[in-house]
Amino acid sequence: MAENSKLLIDLSVVVPIYNEEQIIPELYERLQHTVSQITPHYELIFVNDGSKDSSLLQLVALSKQAPNVYYINFSRNFGHQIAVTAGLDASRGKAVVIIDGDLQDPPELILDLYKTYQQGFEVVYAKRAERKGESLFKKATAKLFYRAMRALTNINIPLDTGDFRLIDRKVVDYLKLMPEQNKFLRGQIAWLGFRQTQVEFSRDQRKYGKTGYPLSKMFKFAMDGITSFSDQPLLFVSRLGFTISLISFAVILYAIYSHYILHQTITGWTSLIISSMFIGGVQLISVGIIGEYISRINKNVLNRPLYIIENSNLNHEELPQEPYTRHTAVTH
Ligand code: UDP
Ligand code: MG
Repeated sequence: MAENSKLLIDLSVVVPIYNEEQIIPELYERLQHTVSQITPHYELIFVNDGSKDSSLLQLVALSKQAPNVYYINFSRNFGHQIAVTAGLDASRGKAVVIIDGDLQDPPELILDLYKTYQQGFEVVYAKRAERKGESLFKKATAKLFYRAMRALTNINIPLDTGDFRLIDRKVVDYLKLMPEQNKFLRGQIAWLGFRQTQVEFSRDQRKYGKTGYPLSKMFKFAMDGITSFSDQPLLFVSRLGFTISLISFAVILYAIYSHYILHQTITGWTSLIISSMFIGGVQLISVGIIGEYISRINKNVLNRPLYIIENSNLNHEELPQEPYTRHTAVTH
C-alpha cells in the first residue's frame, strides 16, 4: 500500500529556502506553472533552512492554499546541502528535481530536464553555460574549485554544474544509503553512476536578496567535497614531508663535509631561522590537513541526526525516522 501511494507522484521538486521572502511568490508561480505542464501528480517540497525573514510564514500560507505544496521547517540553519537532503528524504516522486529557491535556476528548464529524463537517463543535470551577475571572484573560485576537484578525485564530477538537476527515484534511494554528515551531493550523485547527461542553460542573476554562500561557507563546502572524495591531500602531505627530510639530510651531509674536509664552519643564523620556520610551517599545514579528515571521522562517529525538523505539514509517518538517513531500505 505504502509503495503504491509513493508511486502516485510523478515528480517532486525540492527547494531549499534561506531568507527568500521576496522571491517566494514568483518562485511558486513559475514552479507550479511549469510542473503542472508535465503532470498533475506533482509535489513541491520547500525546506525552510532557518530563515530569519518571513519565508516560513509564506510557505505555510502557500501550503494551505495548494494541496501539493509541502514545507519542512528546520529548527535552525543547517546549510544548503542538508536542506536538500531533507527534501530528498521526504520526497515521494518517481523523479525528483533539485532547484535553488532564488530563481537563479530557471524553473522553466525543468521541462527540458524532464524531456531528457524520459529518453532514459537517471540523472539529468543542468550545466551552466554562462553565469550572469556573479562577481569575477565567485566565478574564478568556482572555476578553480571544479578544476581542482577533477584533478584530485577520480570520480567524474561534471564541470560547472550546481545541484540543479533531475534524478530518478533509484538515485534518491541510494543517496539515502550514504549517511555521511558532510554532504557533497553533486559528488555523491556522480559517484553513484547510472546514465547521466546534461542540459545547458544560462544562469540568471539573483533577483532579490543576497547570496547565502559567503566565502566561509564556500570554503567549508569545498573542503567537504575534497575530503569526502579524495585522499590526495594526505598523500601530498606525506610526500612533502619525505622530500623535505631528504633535502635536510643532504644539507646535514654538506655541513659535515664542509666542517671536516673544507674546514669551513657555516656561519650565520639566517639560514637556520629560515629553515626552521619553513619546516614549522609545513608541519602546521600537514597537521591541519590531517585534522580536517579526523574531524570528519569524528562527526560521523557521533552519529547525530543530520537535521532537526521543528514542524512540517507532511504526514509524520512519511518523514524519515531518526536517525534519518540511516538504515533506509532501498525499494524500487
Ligand atoms: N540556502 C539554504 N541554506 C543556506 C544557504 C542557502 O537553504 O544556509 C539556499 C538558498 O535559499 C538558495 C540556495 O540554497 O535557494 C542557494 O543558495 P545561494 O543562492 O545563497 O547560493 P549561490 O547561488 O550564491 O551559490
Ligand atoms: Mg543563488
